[in-house]
Amino acid sequence: MTAYPDTMLFIDGAWVPAASGKTIPVLDPATEEQIGTVAWADRADLDAALEAAARGFAVWRATSAYDRAKMMRKAADLLRERAGDIGWVMTREQGKPLAQAKMEALAAADVIDWFAEEARRTYGQVIPSRAPGITQMTVKLPVGPVAAFTPWNFPINQVVRKLSAALAAGCSIIVKAPEETPASPAALIRCFADAGVPAGVVGLVYGVPAEISEYLIAHPVIRKVTFTGSTPVGKLLASLAGQHMKRATMELGGHAPVIVTADADIDKAIATMAMHKFRNAGQVCVSPTRFLVEDAVADRFIDGFTEAAKAIKVGAGSDESTVMGPLANDRRIPALQALVDDAVDHGGRLTTGGRRIGNKGWFFEPTVLADVPVAARIMNEEPFGPVAVINRFASLGDAIAEANRLPFGLAAYAWTGSAAAAGRIAAEVEAGMTTINHLGLALPEVPFGGIKDSGYGTEGGSEAIEAYLDTRFITRMD
Ligand code: NAD
Repeated sequence: MTAYPDTMLFIDGAWVPAASGKTIPVLDPATEEQIGTVAWADRADLDAALEAAARGFAVWRATSAYDRAKMMRKAADLLRERAGDIGWVMTREQGKPLAQAKMEALAAADVIDWFAEEARRTYGQVIPSRAPGITQMTVKLPVGPVAAFTPWNFPINQVVRKLSAALAAGCSIIVKAPEETPASPAALIRCFADAGVPAGVVGLVYGVPAEISEYLIAHPVIRKVTFTGSTPVGKLLASLAGQHMKRATMELGGHAPVIVTADADIDKAIATMAMHKFRNAGQVCVSPTRFLVEDAVADRFIDGFTEAAKAIKVGAGSDESTVMGPLANDRRIPALQALVDDAVDHGGRLTTGGRRIGNKGWFFEPTVLADVPVAARIMNEEPFGPVAVINRFASLGDAIAEANRLPFGLAAYAWTGSAAAAGRIAAEVEAGMTTINHLGLALPEVPFGGIKDSGYGTEGGSEAIEAYLDTRFITRMD
């Protein structure tokens, strides 16, 4: 395997240290040891990245969609070739099991291919006119240089959706990738550079997130902002974007409900949802969190889910037998502990887990809480960790009301044997994405995004590229 690399900034087609020479350490979440460093951008680096993005935009918008798509497909092929090495780098810095890290890189290649195809379909319209001799039409043009802010839970996936959509549309982009997990997104961007994407079209910086976002969003070069992260930070960045009249896409937090009716395939629901809950140690915006199970099967569900959680093998992501790795950063340990303790204080039952494992590496037990009152913090705040809450309901109406109680509206899950219940859940649960009796989220060709406090805009499906395009109207009399 390759050595874990130090990560530099990527500005104007070159990998460069910060102008100040400053770096910060990168830690392995499984050992807490320093494995590398990442360059730390300040104002001088951001100015250089902005100037390059302005020049890059002029070049890229003039490159045909056909040629953009060709370079993007080449980048996807390079990513597939390098997925093993990149997965290893991601496991070192993020903690997830190797197979999941490699899968993330491979899935990202599919995202690039999808958007490469979309690049060639940014159709306008010809609109029938009211008088002869007048041609009315719309054309779709790239919105301009993009500032993208991405988190550490899926270091490649969170970048690739924004990067690919922007490039497909003809935009240049500056990515502010996560300081905790810098090397795998850098490896992704290297694939685009090696595929021939011209200098300035893609930039990559790291530093103090609040300082970078404040500077880039306000800067006249930037025309579009895209962010994935928590709802409070999303609201802050959306307000900054509003102040400066910049287009924005916000993919924010969730608190996904899972409705399970008595006639559902309970064993399948338990097996599928336990795997899904503890994937990436629960650090997933669409992670299932509030399980709402019909009274008649609630005890069976709680017992089965608890057994499934106990069976999860926790360990370093580099160990091939590991199913769940450590949390990606140390601040999540006290955050989770406080949520679990508060739930127990409110009368919730801890059926398994609830504690940090050991004192080296940020490992937390797969945790199940049952019968937790809605006043507990965990019933209202996104846990963003390996904790499931299982509560009971008497009528489907009650379950839907509880599902809709929170301001979040990202993912929702349901397991039911009744077509009528499935129809009602699909119609009434307030979520950007609802998946019933299987897991069907996050493919490149389907929408990905939330409603309510979970944000706006979609990062998948045929609408995703629209976020990077302006519709311009042209009318002409001959
Ligand atoms: P946080 O809210 O401090 O940061 C979340 C992300 O936003 C990080 O990547 C961070 O670098 C970035 N960020 C923070 N302030 C910023 C700013 N002013 N400008 C630009 N970027 C900024 O929380 P955290 O401790 O890193 O993560 C915990 C919480 O974040 C979780 O509870 C979860 O709600 C949320 N989160 C969500 C996702 C997601 O996929 N939606 C991913 C990671 C974190």
